[in-house]
Amino acid sequence: MELELKNLTKDYNQHRAVDGINLKVSDGEFVVFLGPSGCGKTTTLMMTAGLIEPSAGEVFFNGKCVNTVHPKDREVGMVFQTYALYPHMTVFDNMTFSLKLQGVSTVERRKRAADVSQWLGLADLLERMPGELSGGQQQRVSVGRALIREPQLLLFDEPLSNLDANLRASLRGEIKRLQKRTGITSLYVTHDQGEAMAMADRVAVIMEGRLIEFAPPKDLHDRPKTRQIAEFIGVPTMNFFKTELAEEAGALTARFKGGALGLQNTRKPNNGSRQAVLGIRPQHLKESSDGLPCEVRNVEHLGRDLLVTVRLDATDMTFYADPASDASIGKTLRVGFDMDQAQFFDPESGKSLLWN
Ligand code: ATP
Repeated sequence: MELELKNLTKDYNQHRAVDGINLKVSDGEFVVFLGPSGCGKTTTLMMTAGLIEPSAGEVFFNGKCVNTVHPKDREVGMVFQTYALYPHMTVFDNMTFSLKLQGVSTVERRKRAADVSQWLGLADLLERMPGELSGGQQQRVSVGRALIREPQLLLFDEPLSNLDANLRASLRGEIKRLQKRTGITSLYVTHDQGEAMAMADRVAVIMEGRLIEFAPPKDLHDRPKTRQIAEFIGVPTMNFFKTELAEEAGALTARFKGGALGLQNTRKPNNGSRQAVLGIRPQHLKESSDGLPCEVRNVEHLGRDLLVTVRLDATDMTFYADPASDASIGKTLRVGFDMDQAQFFDPESGKSLLWN
């Protein structure tokens, strides 16, 4: 099903929680709403489901406005952070309860429960009570309960937040595979960017109620349209420097107090601006004998690498060094920049000078 949100807005008293969101989701797409706590993700999801009434704007399912359609008639399946299973019912009854209320026959309920429980690895647990299941199994049951109704839209609200890190990682893979298998258009809310980047076909980054960018994970990471997105996506965060772009012997150079770096042909700012903010991710810096001299401020042992913080031009920047490196606090290291991976932003507007 195709979903469209048009100028979707929600005011709570004087506070604008969701501020004119416009978004088109293709049939079968998995879209993740990513943003900090309180940015309006859940409110947007609830307005899509019809559980919160918008102050303005419209929700379209396959081109038809559903603002006046009752939530139970929208054919939407929801999975929440809390599993909210009925403790006195078996897994089978929990999954099929809504079908029973709809008058679906026992034979059909058994058939659908067999399919869905097979997909979710619950086939042997159908007669158990929720209290006899682990947290991960309980969340699988709540996913099954949403799926079994064969909804045209699936909405997930931070479904993995209550689980430990290993289980979160394996369940996110399962949910993604299941979504692709069923082809049900899905919206998934999280504030965990690792989850968003791992699961989404496209990520909608929401901040202070506004949609900031809507793009596939790789584009958000590699071709951020604003400094705000470049800073938000990627851990540890991108390093930034104020630079002056200058033409030297026919080549464009980014100059700053700590030195000068030549620009690659693929990375030339598009409006010839003279002031720019240079952005470079930690993984695109490395120790190099012809690099710029920097003072080491901190060293963290991560196992596979060292995460080193150095100071250059009165700015701290981080990068990964080989575990065999003798980096230590106070020492001077030479750090090379992979300028094929550099980003440039307008110092005033924060807009990318490469991708807009
Ligand atoms: P989280 O990740 O913490 O769940 P969120 O991005 O999902 O956050 P929302 O729950 O959509 O954020 O809330 C958006 C804003 O609206 C917040 O500032 C919140 O305090 C406010 N808000 C949400 N529900 C109500 C309500 N019923 N009455 C008043 N304000 C509300």
